[in-house]
Amino acid sequence: MPGFEVIDRKEEQAVMRLFQKAHGVMHRYGFDALRNGITPTADFEQSFAKVLRVRYVHAVTSGTAALKVALKALDIKPGDEVITQSFTFVATVEAIIEVGAIPVITEIDESLNMDPKDLAAKITKKTRAIIPVHMLGAPARMDEIMRIAKKYKLLVLEDACEAPGGTYKGKALGTIGDMGAFSFDFGKTITTGEGGMVATNNKERYERAKEYADHGHQNNPKLPRAQDSRRMAGFNFRMMELQGALGLAQLAKLPFILKKQREHKSYLQQRLREIPEITFRDDVDAKGEIADTLILLFKDKKTADTFTKKLKEHGYGNKNIPDAISWHYAGTWTHMLPQFDRYRGKDLMKLWPRSTDLVSRAVALPIMVKSSKAQLNRLAGTILTICKEL
Ligand SMILES: *Cc1c(COP(=O)(O)O)cnc(C)c1O
Repeated sequence: MPGFEVIDRKEEQAVMRLFQKAHGVMHRYGFDALRNGITPTADFEQSFAKVLRVRYVHAVTSGTAALKVALKALDIKPGDEVITQSFTFVATVEAIIEVGAIPVITEIDESLNMDPKDLAAKITKKTRAIIPVHMLGAPARMDEIMRIAKKYKLLVLEDACEAPGGTYKGKALGTIGDMGAFSFDFGKTITTGEGGMVATNNKERYERAKEYADHGHQNNPKLPRAQDSRRMAGFNFRMMELQGALGLAQLAKLPFILKKQREHKSYLQQRLREIPEITFRDDVDAKGEIADTLILLFKDKKTADTFTKKLKEHGYGNKNIPDAISWHYAGTWTHMLPQFDRYRGKDLMKLWPRSTDLVSRAVALPIMVKSSKAQLNRLAGTILTICKEL
C-alpha cells in the first residue's frame, strides 16, 4: 500500500546526507554558504514534475495545505461555491472552508468518484470551481468533468492526494484540470512524514501558489530575502529540506510501488471475480489506477457488515470503508456542513441517497506492496470461505 512499507536505508542515507554534507540546513531558501549546493526540496520538485510530465510543481507541508494553496492560487474568494464529492477525506472540504468558500457536495456513482450528472445539476451562478477526487487511487471521470467545467467556465482542481503516479487516458492525475494537489502524509503512496505538492501548467498560478505558501515572498533575484518584494498576503506552508530529502528517496521507489500494487490488485481481483456476492467499482481507466485499494461491493449494508466482521475475525482490516467512513463520507459531517445554509437542519445521510447506499455496502481492502503470493492466496481463500457463509 503506502510508502512507509518501503522505507529503508535509502531514506536514512538521504537524511544523513543533509547533516553530513549540508550542515543540517532545513530551510529551502537561502543558507547558501552552509548547504554546499544541496537542495533536496527543489530537486524533489524537479523529479516530481518530470514524473507527472507537468510544467510546474511546488512542495508544501501537507496535502490539505496543497488544496488550500491551490484554491488561493486559483483566486477562489469568500462566498464562491466550490463543488466536490460526497466520498472524500474531510480535508477536501476543510480546504474549501479555509478560503471562505462554500462547499457544495455531489453524489458519487458506481466509480465511487464524482457523478458528472449530479455535478451539472449542482452548478449555480456562484459556482467557481470543481474539486474531483481520485479517491483511493482510481481516476475520476475527467472527460465528462472537464466538458462540464468548460461549458460553465469553471476551474478544476484535482484532489490527487491518493493518486500520485496514476493516469487517466495516459495523462498524469493532477495535471488534467487547472491545478492538482498531492499528499505525502504517512499513509500515502509515497511519504515525507507530512508533506504535499501542487501541480499546474500555468505559470501565473504556480507563482501565486509559491508566493502564498511563503508569506507572499516573490523570491526576487534582485533583492536579498529580507527586502523581498510581495503582492499579496500569504502564509507559511513551506516544505523543509528533511521532507524534500525523504521525498526524493521515496519518489525513486514509486515505479516499484505501482508495479507491485497493480500486480497484487489484479491477482486478487482475478481470484474474486467468480464470487456472486461481490461486485467491483466501475473502472474509469483501469490501467491508470494506482491500485492501492480493492473495493468490494455487496448487495446491502447488512451483508457488507457481516463480511467485515468475519474478515476481522480472520485478522484482516479494511481501509477508509467501513472502519473510517466518518472521516471520508460527507453524510456524517455534522461538525462542519450545517454552518452553511444549504445543509443547515438537514439529515445529511439522506442528502446523497446513492452515495449513502454505495459507501454503506462497500468494503475497501488495502493492497500491500510487500504481500507474497502465499499471503494473497490466503486472503483470497479467506474471502471465498466467508462469502460462502454469507
Ligand atoms: C490524505 C488526503 C488529503 C490530505 O492530505 P494530508 O497530507 O493528510 O493533509 C486530502 N484529500 C484526500 C483525498 C486525502 O486522501
